[in-house]
Amino acid sequence: MTERNNLWAPWRMNYITGLGTEPNSGKKADSKSNETSDCFICHNLSHPKNDDENLVLWRTELSIVILNRYPYNNGHLLIAPAKHIPDLDKADSEEMLDMMKLIRESQKVLSLTIKPHGFNVGMNFSRCAGAGLPGHMHIHVVPRWSGDTNFMSVCADTKVISQSLTELLELLKKVSKENNLPAL
Ligand SMILES: [Zn+2]
Repeated sequence: MTERNNLWAPWRMNYITGLGTEPNSGKKADSKSNETSDCFICHNLSHPKNDDENLVLWRTELSIVILNRYPYNNGHLLIAPAKHIPDLDKADSEEMLDMMKLIRESQKVLSLTIKPHGFNVGMNFSRCAGAGLPGHMHIHVVPRWSGDTNFMSVCADTKVISQSLTELLELLKKVSKENNLPAL
């Protein structure tokens, strides 16, 4: 599966070079300081007014959907529970169902907006398995196109990516509104 290795490795480089330039990293932690204060998902959850700058696409009662700032590919979404939990063991059935439905809805909005040929959907648990944020579990939804294997290696300029992220978020929000997504 060399195709998969080629696609996933560059993201790690983007993530590492992005550390320290994360917009949230300079901000003070919330007064209710706990283990969630370093978690960008919890930060985003508790700052709904900053949803655009934090690239939040959707919120449900139980989950949040965020455009990944360090994408494997164009349109890479993250689905996370509203609870700061490391794995599915701590999620109840309603939360798991909500996230599973959001995978379906994420695929819908991405299909309508950027017309991928396929998707990778997956989870990484613990750092050794590649989890960038092991404390707060999340599901990756990564659009794929035939022949996209070397896209990130060629276009791994983080400035270009962050500009296009803002534009893509606007587009995804517009398409969501027009199609009443997420339809849970
Ligand atoms: Zn968290």
